[in-house]
Amino acid sequence: MGVKIAVAEERQKIFDAINGVLFTSFNKILTLKKVTKLIVPRLADYCRIAVVNDRNEIRELAVNHTNPKHVTLVTELYDNYKNLHKVQYGIAQILKSGKPEIISKIDKTVLSTIKNPKLLQIVKKVGLKSYIGIPLIARHKVIGAITFSSIKPDRFYEKDDLLFLKEVGKRIALALDNANLYEQAILANKQAQIEKERLEIVQNAVSLETTYRKQIEHNLKFLAEASKVLSSSLDYQTTLNSIASLAVPKIADWCGIDILDEQGELQQVAVAHKDPKKVQWAKEFRKSEPIDLTAPTGLPNVLRTGKSEIYPLITDEMLVMSAKTPERLQLMSSLGIASVMIVPLFAHRKPIGGITFVTSETRRRYNKSDLAMAEELASRISLAIENARLYKGSQDAINLRDDFISVASHELKTPVTSVKIFTQVLQQHAQQIGDQKAVKYLQKMDTQLNKLTDLIFNLLNISKIQAGRMEYKEKMFDFDQMVKDVVDVLGQSVRHKLIIEGSINQKIYGDEDRLGQVLSNLVSNAIKYSPNAEKVLIKLSSLNDKIIVAVQDFGIGIGVSHLDKIFERFYRIYADKTFPGLGIGLYISSEIVKRHNGDLWVESDPGKGSTFYFSLPISRKEK
Ligand code: ADP
Repeated sequence: MGVKIAVAEERQKIFDAINGVLFTSFNKILTLKKVTKLIVPRLADYCRIAVVNDRNEIRELAVNHTNPKHVTLVTELYDNYKNLHKVQYGIAQILKSGKPEIISKIDKTVLSTIKNPKLLQIVKKVGLKSYIGIPLIARHKVIGAITFSSIKPDRFYEKDDLLFLKEVGKRIALALDNANLYEQAILANKQAQIEKERLEIVQNAVSLETTYRKQIEHNLKFLAEASKVLSSSLDYQTTLNSIASLAVPKIADWCGIDILDEQGELQQVAVAHKDPKKVQWAKEFRKSEPIDLTAPTGLPNVLRTGKSEIYPLITDEMLVMSAKTPERLQLMSSLGIASVMIVPLFAHRKPIGGITFVTSETRRRYNKSDLAMAEELASRISLAIENARLYKGSQDAINLRDDFISVASHELKTPVTSVKIFTQVLQQHAQQIGDQKAVKYLQKMDTQLNKLTDLIFNLLNISKIQAGRMEYKEKMFDFDQMVKDVVDVLGQSVRHKLIIEGSINQKIYGDEDRLGQVLSNLVSNAIKYSPNAEKVLIKLSSLNDKIIVAVQDFGIGIGVSHLDKIFERFYRIYADKTFPGLGIGLYISSEIVKRHNGDLWVESDPGKGSTFYFSLPISRKEK
C-alpha cells in the first residue's frame, strides 16, 4: 500500500481549482498548462496532456514536471515510446484503446518487460515509480489522453486514485470539447464571413460588368445612330450640328466641334449643351478668349499631336489652374465641367480639328471605353468631312463647267447666226454670177454651220434645263406629220433607208419642235451607231391611252452596264473619236419627254442593234 496522493478534502480543493481554470478560457494550451501546474506536484510529479485529431495525429498540448530540467528527458521518453509498435502503455495506447491504464508499482518485473534498451535507460533515469493514464472522452469519442507519473519513492497510485483522476479527466475532456466547439464555431463564422465577402466581391464584379456592358452597348448604339446621321447629308456643317446634338445628352452634357479654317484658325463649327440656355454661354466662353494654339494641353495639343486627351475627373484645382481670370473661372464653373475627352479629327491623315465631350456631373466620368467610342466616332466624322469636302470640290467644278457652257454657248450663238446669214447671202450671189464651184463649197459650209448651230443649240438647252428655264410651246399638233417631216429632213443626207411603220392617226398635245428634236436625236443616233446597216425603222403605235414611238437600228448595240447611264449628262460609252459627240442628246431628249409626262427607254442586243422607245400620254392637256 502506498501513500495516498491526497486526502479527500485536498482532492476536492484541487478538483475545484482545476475546474476553475478549465472553464475560464477557450485557449486550450494556456488552460491545460495551468491545469498541469495544478496537478504537479500535488497529484503527480510528471503530467502530460495530448490530443488526437480526425487524422489520428497526436499533439502534445501541455507537459509539466517537478523538475523542469526533466521535461526534455520525459519528452524524449515519450518520443521514443510512441514510436514503438508494440507499446503496452502510454498516450498512443490509450488513444487507441480508449481505456484508462494504471501501473501502481513500476518494479523490476515491470522493467523486465521493456525490451528497448534505450527506453529502459530513460525510464530508469527518470526514476518512474507509478503511473496512471486516462483517456479524454467527449461525446463518446476519444479526443486525447492525460498521464500522471510519480517518481516519489513512496507515491503509488491505487484504484481510488484512478477513480478520482478519471473525474479530473472527464472535466478536462469537457473543457477541451467546449474549446473545440468554440474553435469550430469561430472557424465556421470566419468561413461564413469569407464566403460573404467573396460573394460581395463576385456581386460587385457582376454589377460592374453589367454596367460596363451596358455602357458599351449604349456607346455602340450611339455610334450606329451617329453613322446614320453622318451618311444622311454631304453638307458637313449640318451634319456636325446634328452630331453634337445627338451626343448631348447621350454621351455628354456638353459637346463642341472645332475645325481649322483656311487661315489656320480654329472655328467652333458646332456646339450643344444639355441646357439649351447654356449653348450661348458655351459660345461666349469660346469668344471670350480665342484659343491659344501654343497651349501645352487641351485642343491645341490634340491638334499638334493628333492624339486624344482624357481627363476622367476635373478637380476644382484644375479649373483654377486653367482659368486665367476670375471671370473665366466663374464662367467655367457655371458651365459645369466634371469629366472631359478631346479627340482629334483628321483630313488626309492630318489633324484638322477636334471634338470635345464634357460631362457636368462627377457621377458620369469618362473611361477608356468611352474614349475608344469617341475616337471611332471621330474617325467616322473625319471620313464624312473628307467626303463632304471632296463632294463640294466636285460640285464646284461641275458648277464652273456649267457656267462656262452657258456663257460659251450664248456667246457663240450670235456670231454663228451671222456667219450663217452671210453664207446664204454669198450663196445667192454665187448663184447669180454662175460660180458653180463657189455654190458647192458654200453649200458644204452651210451644212457644217447647221451642225455647229445644232451643237450650240444643244449646249444652250443643257444650260436652260439646268437653270429650269427651258421653254415649251405646247399645242395640239399632227404627230404623224411631224414624224414624216423630221424623217424627210434627216433622210436627205444619209445612206440609210429610214422606214416609218404604222401611224398614230390623232393629234397630240405638246411642244412639236421639242418632240421633233427628240425624234431627230434618236434617229440621228440610230444612223450614227449603225455604220454598216442599211436601214433604220421608225415604228408608231398606240396602246391604251399612250402613243409609243420606237426607233430601231441594226448597229453596234449597247452593253447592259451602260443602259441606265446613257441618259445622264455627258455620258458617252466611247470616249474616242470613232463616234464623235458630246453625250448630251439623250439627256436633253429624256428631259423633254419627262416634261411631257412620258417615258424614254432602251432595249439593246450588243452587236445586233438597239431600239429606243418613247411614250407620251394621249389625253394630256395643259399641265
Ligand atoms: P452622243 O451620241 O453625242 O455621244 P447621246 O446622249 O446621244 O450622245 O448618247 C449617249 C451615248 O449613248 C452615246 O455616246 C453612245 O455611246 C450611246 N448611244 C446612243 N444611241 C445609241 C445607239 N442607237 N446605239 C448604240 N449606242 C448608242
